[in-house]
Amino acid sequence: MNDCLFCKIISGEIPSKKVYEDEYCYAFEDIAPVAPTHILFVPKTHIPSAAAITPENSAVVGKIYEAIAKIAKEKNLENGWRVVSNCGPDAGQTVFHLHFHLLGGRALGVMCDNI
Ligand code: AMP
Ligand code: ZN
Repeated sequence: MNDCLFCKIISGEIPSKKVYEDEYCYAFEDIAPVAPTHILFVPKTHIPSAAAITPENSAVVGKIYEAIAKIAKEKNLENGWRVVSNCGPDAGQTVFHLHFHLLGGRALGVMCDNI
């Protein structure tokens, strides 16, 4: 997966502002934040998107959500927060390594104009 931006961030080849790391996941500040807290959580194994989650690799998603809840608490987001995982072109996915945006620190508004 030499061409994957987030694999390079996980390996340290590309620098990032690390927020959290464990055996399963790596979390870092989004380079273009859209909220006061905007952190990306990625599995350490390369999974292209949520569409590639299978019974064999899905356990990491639970581990990532555990990390998200821990960091949201540490960042004092008690007023609320949102997790977003864009999957595929219609959702605007730009980096094809599964990731979860943790957004918080301001009122986030309606998530989407058609649901
Ligand atoms: P998505 O559009 O859902 O695929 O999200 C990709 C996210 O990665 C965007 O929010 C970008 O701002 C972010 N991003 C791209 N390159 C970097 C980088 N080098 N370091 C941190 N975040 C990045
Ligand atoms: Zn990758």
